Amino acid sequence: MKAPKTQHGVFLLLMMTGLLLTAPAHALAKFMTLPFTDPDVHIQQGWLYDSPGVLCGPSNPDYPYCHYAIDYIKGTVDSPATWLPFTVVAVADGQAQYRPNGSQTWGNYVITKHMVGGVMYYTINAHLATSPLPPNQWVGITRGDPIGTAGKSGLANGLLHLHFEVYKDQLLKTNRVDPYDIYKTKAAYPPHGNCGPGALWVACSARDQQALQDIENRAQRDARFLSAIPETFGQQLDWDPSWELRWLDFHVTGGRLVRIWHATSKVNAAWRYTLFFDPDTHTWNGWTQAF
Ligand SMILES: [Zn+2]
Repeated sequence: MKAPKTQHGVFLLLMMTGLLLTAPAHALAKFMTLPFTDPDVHIQQGWLYDSPGVLCGPSNPDYPYCHYAIDYIKGTVDSPATWLPFTVVAVADGQAQYRPNGSQTWGNYVITKHMVGGVMYYTINAHLATSPLPPNQWVGITRGDPIGTAGKSGLANGLLHLHFEVYKDQLLKTNRVDPYDIYKTKAAYPPHGNCGPGALWVACSARDQQALQDIENRAQRDARFLSAIPETFGQQLDWDPSWELRWLDFHVTGGRLVRIWHATSKVNAAWRYTLFFDPDTHTWNGWTQAF
């Protein structure tokens, strides 16, 4: 087992320290986890984007209609007969309302709302078979709470899937956003997400989840660390030929911010390390094995 090459790592990290507090002004907040936990669920269809040169609609045979949503299935993508029900869960803390047969198009659906950094986000979870939530009233939800079972109610063309939409600010068609920040055809979508700069996901892959856990474990071993800032989670998978880099910022005592860096070996994902710049000693604390 070998820690990330320190000289290379520290050099890059020193360069990046200057960027520590400069988040892109227009970045969307990263606040959601996936609307399911079943590892066999994946994307059947992504967002088809209407932009100059790529106009979705009947006039474009390549993009005959616009789909401002993500469709998730459990089964084989091109074999709808194999598609199975799965549990739909809340993507973040907030409020939810179940609307049984609430729309001809969406069928039974659950709407959720989430206030994130002063901005309201909504999700629509459509074509559900059922929901454990009481009908037609807002209830508090915690991330991961079951809010429904994927089905084929409404205009689902008889195909069992979850139609998932995200809105920013208001529940208007013009306010829909692609949580993956890809805005292309389904072929461009990775199976479980994209943690790019504009993506809404807190974390996408199992390695992201592991890195977040390691980072939070490291913070908990140092009393100066107070709370994580989830929307600062980032990654640079091509940082080094042998190592993937991820990071997360924390509020620390004294009104300061500290970024914990995390490296995962591309050779063996069990080799994982954390690093941060100590705000009191003003030195790098060295790569430490994650546990
Ligand atoms: Zn859909």
